[in-house]
Amino acid sequence: MPLVLSCIFAAMNFEHQTALKTLLSTTKKIAIIPHKNPDGDAIGSTLALWHYLISKGHKAQIISPNDFPKFLKWMPGTDKILNFEKQNTESKKWINEADVIFTLDFNHLGRVGQMSESLENAKATFVMVDHHQEPSDYAKIMYSDVRMSSTCEMVYNLITLLGDDEEITTEMANCIYTGIMTDTGSFKFSATTSNTHRTVAKLMDKGAEGTEIHHRIYDTNSPSRLHLLGCALKNMVILEDFSTAYITLSQAELDTYNYQKGDTEGFVNYGLTLDGIKFAVIFIENADEGILKISFRSVGDFSVNDFARKHFNGGGHTNAAGGKSDDPIKDTISYFTSLLPEYKKQLQS
Ligand code: 5GP
Ligand code: MN
Repeated sequence: MPLVLSCIFAAMNFEHQTALKTLLSTTKKIAIIPHKNPDGDAIGSTLALWHYLISKGHKAQIISPNDFPKFLKWMPGTDKILNFEKQNTESKKWINEADVIFTLDFNHLGRVGQMSESLENAKATFVMVDHHQEPSDYAKIMYSDVRMSSTCEMVYNLITLLGDDEEITTEMANCIYTGIMTDTGSFKFSATTSNTHRTVAKLMDKGAEGTEIHHRIYDTNSPSRLHLLGCALKNMVILEDFSTAYITLSQAELDTYNYQKGDTEGFVNYGLTLDGIKFAVIFIENADEGILKISFRSVGDFSVNDFARKHFNGGGHTNAAGGKSDDPIKDTISYFTSLLPEYKKQLQS
């Protein structure tokens, strides 16, 4: 049975603390894995943990399933991250030889794409740190808490739990701040608690540069990204009867606007800025992978986690989830709109 670190501030189970402390009490070879297409929280949390583990004398390596956006590459340590797709042999060797594998910001192995087979065959002790719903049971030690704003907030808690919060450096603070900021929509989503703000205050005391981080993440647009946003907004379809707005972007449109990884980040949220809209979706074609990547967002009680899980092979949180479709855009939209009547009552309430 996996051990569960349910909440470090409330009923802190000594046995769980001990399991992690014992594991890290001797020098270990540790692989740290974020989910595929890692976002600010995934990269921020893995980097913060990496800096911490190295400072404690461990041999540690972050292995990302694939590349990540340029607007995250200023973070300290990003140049040391292995890309499983591009540095496959070296990545596999690390995973095979690791004593411990931390998986951060995801909770089932299907979220790492091609890397899942290597992880399934690994002999290491798995530690999950994650805030998504319905975790699977691959990890021996689990710190899984859906109430957390972000995995970065959890890494802060974990370092505190290990008694080392005084050792958090400015580098770690900047990484943790980044993930909390991106996953909370700059501290506005409902998972932002007073504890989140207290954590952020402590990070600022450690030297986290909030204004600069915000600038590097959000104010480094290229003209073509803004043109792509214009295209996305023109494509938006509003279904007032279902309080729903959806956007499509075809591969041809992405190509027209010279799409770069990360360019569509945040586009889905525009639907929710419309008065009365409770459910916003974006369908983005990925010709290389032969799929549509879908992002779902909601306000209030409508669970996009349930919706994505049930209909689009995905999951996430109540108000932010993702999924995919193997069908062309037109068919996927037909299917999507055919589902809405079933949810009309919920969406109108
Ligand atoms: P995004 O729409 O920004 O890609 O993701 C929103 C949330 O849903 C994130 O917390 C992300 O980790 C999760 N998510 C995105 N895509 C998937 C998916 O295909 N499967 C699952 N289980 N979660 C996803
Ligand atoms: Mn997250």
